[in-house]
Amino acid sequence: MRSAKVLRISVTDRCDLRCIYCMPEAGVPLVPMADMLSYEEVAAVARAAMAAGVRRFRLTGGEPLARRGLVSLVSLLAGLGPDDLALTTNGLHLAGFAADLKAAGLTRVTVSLDTLRPDRFEARRDELFELFPVLESRRGHRADSLSGGQRQILAMGRALMMEPMLLLLDEPSAGLSPAMQDEVFAMIAAINEAGVSVLIVEQNAHKALRICHRGYVLDAGVDAYTGPGTELLHDPKVVELYLGSLVRPR
Ligand code: SF4
Repeated sequence: MRSAKVLRISVTDRCDLRCIYCMPEAGVPLVPMADMLSYEEVAAVARAAMAAGVRRFRLTGGEPLARRGLVSLVSLLAGLGPDDLALTTNGLHLAGFAADLKAAGLTRVTVSLDTLRPDRFEARRDELFELFPVLESRRGHRADSLSGGQRQILAMGRALMMEPMLLLLDEPSAGLSPAMQDEVFAMIAAINEAGVSVLIVEQNAHKALRICHRGYVLDAGVDAYTGPGTELLHDPKVVELYLGSLVRPR
């Protein structure tokens, strides 16, 4: 069995930004500080994780630097001797803390930014609202108030903010109603038509093969059949072994 080597530690749900794909303008109801683990308790969990094989820690939030005294947590974790101790931040407060964090033992920082140009951010957001009108209609709502399908679309929109050349989707139809699955697959086709390559790992072979240019049917982890999606969908061997009688040729 493979053991996890990285432990992501979310130290707070607070953040001073309001990225549209993460938080509504009004923020979210915050977990009372009394209900959060103290830094000593976090370090105790981290120590137990290291005993179980974890070697690297990644501090995230919300915005981790929004929690007071983060340098002391870095110091506690560095004292455990991990191979890597990293922080992901939006960068707003980094300049004031960078030297102390380094001195406390932080080894790596990821500054997570959509863009440094507000006009570019707004243009990209508006493009995505056009591609996914449902996101614009739900603007200002918390992500956890969206339906399962809307959350999938939000996740895709969030990934597309970075203007990727390739989008990787893991089971995008999992847990969705048949109607919402159709909507999500239509969105995936639209993303591809907009010029983004899409790689999907999906159990719903019928719907995935209908929209994909090339499919790979894996059998016990081995590539058993490969070909254009619609050919695989109608290949008698694939139908017999994997798709059964549910295929409705179109
Ligand atoms: S900076 Fe990060 S945590 Fe803060 S609102 Fe944006 S995505 Fe969310």
